[in-house]
Amino acid sequence: MKTDILIVGGGASGLMAARFAAASARERGLVLQVTLLEKMPRPARKLMISGKGRCNFTNAKAWNEFSAHIEAGSRFVKNAFYSFDSAAVIDFFEREGMKTVVERGDRAFPASHHASDVVDALVRACHGEGVKIITECSVTDISIDSKGFFCARCADGSEYRASKLILATGGLSYPGTGSTGDGYRFAAAFGHSLSPTFPSLTALVPEGYKDCGGKPGKGHIPRETPLSALGEKLCGVQLKNIGARLYIGDSLVEEHFGDVDFTDGGLEGPLGFTMSRKCVKALLNGNKACVELDLKSGVPEAEFSARLTALWKEQGGRLRAVLGKLLPRELIPAFIAVHGNTVKGPGALAIALRSWRFPIAGFVGYERAVVTAGGIPTAEVNPKTLESRLQPGLFLCGELLDIDCTTGGYNIQTAFSTGALAGRSAALQTN
Ligand SMILES: Cc1cc2nc3c(=O)[nH]c(=O)nc-3n(C[C@H](O)[C@H](O)[C@H](O)COP(=O)(O)OP(=O)(O)OC[C@H]3O[C@@H](n4cnc5c(N)ncnc54)[C@H](O)[C@@H]3O)c2cc1C
Repeated sequence: MKTDILIVGGGASGLMAARFAAASARERGLVLQVTLLEKMPRPARKLMISGKGRCNFTNAKAWNEFSAHIEAGSRFVKNAFYSFDSAAVIDFFEREGMKTVVERGDRAFPASHHASDVVDALVRACHGEGVKIITECSVTDISIDSKGFFCARCADGSEYRASKLILATGGLSYPGTGSTGDGYRFAAAFGHSLSPTFPSLTALVPEGYKDCGGKPGKGHIPRETPLSALGEKLCGVQLKNIGARLYIGDSLVEEHFGDVDFTDGGLEGPLGFTMSRKCVKALLNGNKACVELDLKSGVPEAEFSARLTALWKEQGGRLRAVLGKLLPRELIPAFIAVHGNTVKGPGALAIALRSWRFPIAGFVGYERAVVTAGGIPTAEVNPKTLESRLQPGLFLCGELLDIDCTTGGYNIQTAFSTGALAGRSAALQTN
């Protein structure tokens, strides 16, 4: 089958690329066929589960602040961001009939709190521009034929030819949504390399948290690994407004204030995710990592010591009773299991509460990581057009590239910005 612009992957970046390719062609008075191939039965499965089903689809911060949340690829993304920034994204969805609410931290969600509204709006926008979306179409390999057309072969035996190709296949995380890293192989066929990938925004597994059969490894600990007795005690505990410090080896590398959740995966929640990128990288490099929680962050040290001394006296030195006045009830069994034998007085208790150390044994992998760090090196792609520097007519966008951000709507915005620019550039180069 022949088409003018072919997009492989119907996630956030691919749908936006398709819509902008078709709209740009129309604005120039051209009639171009834009075709998008998506391997899953429906497009954008990942967007559907994003933001816990609410889809935090952008972040309303201006570039200076926004860019501080891009962990890799910030300079590369700048041009794409300015050509379709968060205000433009919010406006785009409003025009498609989707209202937005902006919450704490400038995070934008559909006002309905349904991620499906974002996906429906994207699909509607594509259809409105005449984009052909073909689902259950898994591309297996891509080459260039003798006439210089990209030729994508699919698992069902179909073939698509186009003069312009946009790869928008995402990374490796949550493979159940269709993102299984196929694009790395497709790009490699055109000479692209791969910056090593690793899961980020993922749960960190403290030593002794999972029952790893006595062999806690430094690295991937699958989510389904059963909890240990300590893990059972901690799982479900949510800690608000605490301090967290990440140590790599003996060096303090990050310090945060916020919320931590203990889940069936390990230590996560906003602070766990924030620390996960550096922590995973360190473990993969063979370094030791440790998270230290300060359960009484913000309380001046002298004031806290005086309060503990008084409490200890008042409760007759009974640890459980003292803790009952200081900690959420559900955290006490785990705290006693870890510190019960060493805490014999208010001084030791103060240290345990303000610096509870969790040496990290490993991390949950791509099976439940929010993003993939690493990918196709941005140096191999022109930031002004998103065209490959190695293969004319080939464009790359979204999480497939070596770009990743913190949580807060930054990843989807980046996928939208790079997708829109890739689509527009591909259309501009097509007659
Ligand atoms: C649980 C979860 C929650 C998240 N929440 C948020 C959030 O609230 N805010 C935020 O900013 N970010 C969030 N993210 C991250 C964000 O969703 C992604 O960074 C973003 O969706 C990436 O978009 P993409 O288009 O590059 O890739 P993807 O969304 O992964 O899309 C790639 C598409 O390509 C298709 N594909 C792959 N290979 C082939 C092939 N061979 N043939 C045909 N099709 C193929 C896949 O099926 C998939 O549909 C979340 C991620 C997860 C996993």
